[in-house]
Amino acid sequence: MSTFVVVGGDAAGMSAASKAKRDDPDLDVVVFEKGEWVSYGACGLPYYVKGEIQTLDDLVSVTPEEFREDRDIDLRTGHEVVEIDPDDRSVTAEGPDGEVVQAYDHLLIATGAAAVVPDIPGVDREGVFTLESMSDGRDLRDFVARSRESSPAEQPDSGPACHFLENCEGPVAVVGGGYIGIEMAEALAHNDFEVHLFQRGERVLKGFSEATSEAVAEHLRDEDVVLYLDTEVRELAGGDRVEAVVTDDDRLPVEMVLLGTGVRPRTGLAESAGVDLGPTGAIAADRYRETNLPDVYAAGDCAEARHVVTGTPSWVPLALTANRHGRAVGQTVAGNPSVGGGVAGTAAVKAFQMEAARTGVLDHDVAREAGFEPVTETIDAKAQAGYYPGEGTVTVTLCADRPTGRLLGGSLVSEFGEGAVHRSHALVGAVTEGVTVAELANYDLAYAPPFNTTWDPILTAAKVLEGEL
Ligand code: FAD
Repeated sequence: MSTFVVVGGDAAGMSAASKAKRDDPDLDVVVFEKGEWVSYGACGLPYYVKGEIQTLDDLVSVTPEEFREDRDIDLRTGHEVVEIDPDDRSVTAEGPDGEVVQAYDHLLIATGAAAVVPDIPGVDREGVFTLESMSDGRDLRDFVARSRESSPAEQPDSGPACHFLENCEGPVAVVGGGYIGIEMAEALAHNDFEVHLFQRGERVLKGFSEATSEAVAEHLRDEDVVLYLDTEVRELAGGDRVEAVVTDDDRLPVEMVLLGTGVRPRTGLAESAGVDLGPTGAIAADRYRETNLPDVYAAGDCAEARHVVTGTPSWVPLALTANRHGRAVGQTVAGNPSVGGGVAGTAAVKAFQMEAARTGVLDHDVAREAGFEPVTETIDAKAQAGYYPGEGTVTVTLCADRPTGRLLGGSLVSEFGEGAVHRSHALVGAVTEGVTVAELANYDLAYAPPFNTTWDPILTAAKVLEGEL
């Protein structure tokens, strides 16, 4: 019997394990997960902290017992793999009963990504959080619950007073204006915290178009989030607990700080086994997700993949890629070699009452480096037919290559429910297939008055950009 060993029991790891076992029931599948949770939806954690999702168990799609009993997978939670020996074709894991050595025929490294903690004084003070794991989510929810139990009105000396909101909790700081920072700003503001969001660069959501970033920034301000753009946080000051965020110009008293300063691939275990990293710093893998070591695969947030537009290695640590690539590895190991496809850098985010999505290449420097001559256009268009009730608008940014007309990327933003995210799916198809904006402008998209104008906003944007080209 052949043995498939998986390191890491979340999206990529459990997708691979489940698919391999389903396709080849004779395969011995062993999964090592260092934590207690498997197959959990980290993406739902901001909504758990917000209070829209009641328990951490609600975020689990398949329980450890179901994996063991229904899927016949030898899942070992509480086991951290500390060494891979590719010559011996074995891994060593540390678990509650000491060290175990497990032989493999095929091995998948699916160790994910870790939150980046900035190198500034004070990040280890109490009250400074990251949001990477289920236990981080629980800690943050506990903080929210504790603060609400002892509101400032009842205990005026319990912490710094809010700066401008009345009857609020906090103030609290979010460092980082990426999607986790923004989702957490919403979660905290929903719980009546006065939220101050610090962003090093000039705009939030910097991977999206400028128009999207500006629309979201304006909306955050409308929702009483205090935005500090182009602001470097120098220190998280205080005693045992964090008491203030220090920037070049300011010292803002706060009760709590959430660091949303990005993630980096967890590659240490792979590197020490001789697995090569690629130019992005994540694990390099071929289109079957196989690394430089034979029968050793890497998938999910720890690995890079080919970008569908630039054709170069790219690192986009998001959930669907982890699921897709994990599933493909499972299929390959079960005897049906499968490629998981490339990445387009597609992402979506909800920011209070707005939604935004992006795909492909929008950054002109990245496009030029890949040999394109980028041109970008942005339009605002109505989200419904003019005569239909509703005031919604969709802002669409498209970027194309001037000589060929090829669509390189797109970014959309609208009020929540007005379809920016669902419209982006057509752009993902166009970007992935390498179609031109002229071809996109002729896409036979669905139309009915409640959903769009006859020419959907993305078709209008394509026509405008075609004219510009
Ligand atoms: P992970 O989910 O990180 O799992 C890796 C697992 O490996 C972990 O359970 C870890 O404990 C285990 N592990 C690591 N090292 C070892 C070892 N040596 N031995 C044993 N086990 C080990 N993506 C989206 O697409 N959309 C979203 O809206 C979105 N929102 C997110 C919100 C938050 C707050 C977070 C944190 C992430 C979000 N993501 C989102 C990203 C998404 O969760 C990840 O892309 C996805 O979980 C990656 O899956 P993975 O299996 O590669 O890695």
